[in-house]
Amino acid sequence: MTQIKKIGLFTSGGDAPGMNAAIRAVVRTAKYYNIEVVGIRRGYEGMINGEMFPMDGKSVANIIQRGGTILKTARSEQFKTADGRRLAYDQLVKHGIQGLVAIGGDGTFTGARIFGSEYDMPVVGLPGTIDNDLYGTDFTIGYDTAINTVIDAVDKIRDTAESHDRLFIVEVMGRDSGLIALRTGIASGAEAIIIPETKRDINALMDRLENGRKDKSSKIVMVAEGEDPGGAFEIGRQVKEKFPNYDTRVSILGHIQRGGKPSCMDRVLASRVGVAAVEALRDGHRNEMIGIVHNEIAFTPFEHACKHHVEINANFLKIVEILSI
Ligand code: ATP
Repeated sequence: MTQIKKIGLFTSGGDAPGMNAAIRAVVRTAKYYNIEVVGIRRGYEGMINGEMFPMDGKSVANIIQRGGTILKTARSEQFKTADGRRLAYDQLVKHGIQGLVAIGGDGTFTGARIFGSEYDMPVVGLPGTIDNDLYGTDFTIGYDTAINTVIDAVDKIRDTAESHDRLFIVEVMGRDSGLIALRTGIASGAEAIIIPETKRDINALMDRLENGRKDKSSKIVMVAEGEDPGGAFEIGRQVKEKFPNYDTRVSILGHIQRGGKPSCMDRVLASRVGVAAVEALRDGHRNEMIGIVHNEIAFTPFEHACKHHVEINANFLKIVEILSI
């Protein structure tokens, strides 16, 4: 057990629903163990600029149900430099901070890992990203809410698609990861899913449209956004060209996927890992992400959490193929 008396807490990278529930859990657990909490606004950028303030149990009242992050979030180019990290460290020392809880995704943990190798500052991380693309946790905070938002939206698209006999190409978030597209594709009864991991080419989709059932009145194709912006429009263009008789439309769901009230699953996940984060710092953990694997708290070094790309379950793609006949 370490004698840690004051910790810093921040959110970083893309916001995700459930970050507030995690903030609340960390602050309340720290209070439980008589540890002071300093809130750091705007991630690493705010750390460098000294945007810090004390948080007590009351400061996190009535936030468990709110989307976004009350601590704000940012992307910081300066923290990627040694000078930037030195400024950040100086601020932490100035405020008497002895350990950090970082809530974010793989970029946040890459920064934390580098920082932890340069300075004697224990950092633990909570997986806060809608992408679910971290190794060492079955689910990330925000993913469950995001996929529920997606299926709500796609159900609505399905109503209009069905009424007009249309084919909809629906683009969801996930630049490097198709996990949102994969699950929501199954849940919304999609014809096909196009994701970066499998490099599923458009020919497979064309084949499906060519040889699939012709009497369906609506069709949904789920596409992960991928590296190229407007990828769904390009797919839509090619489908229109090859199947001019389909009434093809493109819908980009965009930022609605990040917002909204966190689901029960996300609130509970955030609360569990939030409590574990403070206990981990007390127990001397550092440079680790805290997740839940098989319903148990799991510690994964930042290096592994980011490096090992989450495997796509090939059965999921097979399920789409079987169920869309
Ligand atoms: P999400 O997955 O939701 O996008 P993220 O944590 O991956 O979240 P990023 O923007 O990739 O979001 O990273 C957040 C911040 O982490 C960056 O703005 C930067 O300040 C810091 N960071 C990322 N990579 C590095 C690095 N190599 N060295 C130092 N800091 C880094």
